Amino acid sequence: MPQPVAAGRAYPAEPPAISYDHSSLPTPTRHPKALLRPVCGQCFGIKRDGCTDGISPMYRMWRGPRRQRVAVYRCFGHGPQRSGCGAEILVDELDRAVIVLLSVDMRKHTELVFVAGDDRAEQISRLHDQAADAMRQGDYERSIQCMKDAAELEKQPSARPHWDEVERDITRGQHFASLDTDARREYLAKWRPVARVEDGQVLIEHIPSGLPGLQELARD
Ligand SMILES: [Zn+2]
Repeated sequence: MPQPVAAGRAYPAEPPAISYDHSSLPTPTRHPKALLRPVCGQCFGIKRDGCTDGISPMYRMWRGPRRQRVAVYRCFGHGPQRSGCGAEILVDELDRAVIVLLSVDMRKHTELVFVAGDDRAEQISRLHDQAADAMRQGDYERSIQCMKDAAELEKQPSARPHWDEVERDITRGQHFASLDTDARREYLAKWRPVARVEDGQVLIEHIPSGLPGLQELARD
């Protein structure tokens, strides 16, 4: 039996994430933005009413009375009628676990380096000028040679400006450990851990970057 669909109600496609982040409320203590944008590991891959693609983001929120408030990442579901599965993970615990995990990454750190490329257009136009000068001076042989050189240059592929990935002599873990909180958050923006708690232990899986639905999630 297909589920009845509520008619005549327009749901916003994606509610703005800020409505879930209580750090934006005027409170005496300002909280920095959450370090992570986790995906709920409890309901990961399970297509349910409150999460139609099985990839449910977790948002940071505060729980408990003011003096004992604790920050948790809570599952919020995904899709037009999103709702969470009830899973929560303490922010401190997940942040710490992710920092430890990334700090022991032994792969080589790489950086993007800008390569300016070569601009042959300038050389070619200079040769054309020289050819014209030679022609005016009656030196036809030299003029023809300049034109030939220019034509030769035009045939060669010219290197466009581009970025090269260069391996550095430190590990990714060492690089990550050297970053401050803002830089870590930026580093982690492309790395969304799938996390859950089992027997009091935080378990983390890595989402492969090509996973369908992830582009959509990135806009949450
Ligand atoms: Zn969940």
